[in-house]
Amino acid sequence: MTQKTILVIEDERDIVELIRYNLERESFRVKAACDGETGLHSVQRDLPDLILLDLMLPKLDGLEVCKRAKENERTAHIPIVMVTAKSEESDIVVGLSLGADDYITKPFSPGVLVARVKAVLRRMEMRETGEQKVIKVSDDFVIDAVRHEILVDGKPVKVTKTEFKLLKFMAERPGRALTRNQLLDGAIGFDAFVSDRNIDVHVAALRKKLKKHAHKINTIRGVGYRFEE
Ligand code: CA
Repeated sequence: MTQKTILVIEDERDIVELIRYNLERESFRVKAACDGETGLHSVQRDLPDLILLDLMLPKLDGLEVCKRAKENERTAHIPIVMVTAKSEESDIVVGLSLGADDYITKPFSPGVLVARVKAVLRRMEMRETGEQKVIKVSDDFVIDAVRHEILVDGKPVKVTKTEFKLLKFMAERPGRALTRNQLLDGAIGFDAFVSDRNIDVHVAALRKKLKKHAHKINTIRGVGYRFEE
């Protein structure tokens, strides 16, 4: 595997050094920028493999950096993981809808940070190989998009069309935080036959049917859902 470059846009020096130490130990190359403007320049000049983005930044705030990086077609594909304070919940939702891939809240454990970065990079590689027809979550949990079937312990589970779309959409994005709006637009879209557009109701029904695999769909308070890897 070629060495991946992670760009850290963060104005707190201690956090930059903590991130740098932990990512370099895992053989990532780390670049850092201490304000939004410098960060955005670096995004365009260095084309990193992933961006760790603080939201409260001098000069240009993180959401603006995210928006501009995602608007530019040269940089739109670069995954962004927001690094935020817990209190910035509404910003997290805005960031995700602007195209950020995931977020991590401060204070974070270095292990979780490294795992999140690796998961997002893995997902990017998966995306490049195209849409999956059969998603094997585990040996006893398979989503078959060809036959439109969910198999739990080798047996088909009866789900509605909407539940299937939702589950497939989430499972194709493992580890990614998804807002209710993203699920509604991305998974269901405009479908005149879906009368109940309440995502929570569909997720609750799905969980019931998935039984022991129900925990795979994790609720993220105030944000939405995440399908666990
Ligand atoms: Ca900050």
